[in-house]
Amino acid sequence: MTKNTQHVAFLQHKNELLKEAQTAREFADSYRNYKVGAAALAWNSKTKEYSIYRGCNLKPVNPGEKMCAERIAVGAAKSYGSSKVVALAIVGEPQDTTTLTLHPCISCLEFLSTVKGCDEDTIVLTEWNGVEEVHTIKKLLHLHRNGIKTVCTIS
Ligand SMILES: [Zn+2]
Repeated sequence: MTKNTQHVAFLQHKNELLKEAQTAREFADSYRNYKVGAAALAWNSKTKEYSIYRGCNLKPVNPGEKMCAERIAVGAAKSYGSSKVVALAIVGEPQDTTTLTLHPCISCLEFLSTVKGCDEDTIVLTEWNGVEEVHTIKKLLHLHRNGIKTVCTIS
């Protein structure tokens, strides 16, 4: 899949992807009622179809357990045989003032950048209260490593 194909697919599915992430957020069950919804737009090279998989954050039993929405959405996409995660949408309230939307935590970014089929080129759309940001996992990793704080979606 070329970057152009990926970008076109993202634009074609963007509204649906965002809506699915917003819906997933309604089902989040987390510590301090902090809700995050995610949706992964994924390509299946066998069926030649795009599908969208939801994820929501879940309350961890132990603080070290990460049950972030975006990990669950990518896990669902992989579980259904997807070969490429084209884009991820994440909806949640930002936890500090460094970003206008909720960015994935560094732990998720590093994890997702190593998952086969979900890599540094995966597009990340974040939204809160009508404000949208579009990055890639690579760009968010770069921002984080240069002092722009990203937050964990489970706290
Ligand atoms: Zn996370």
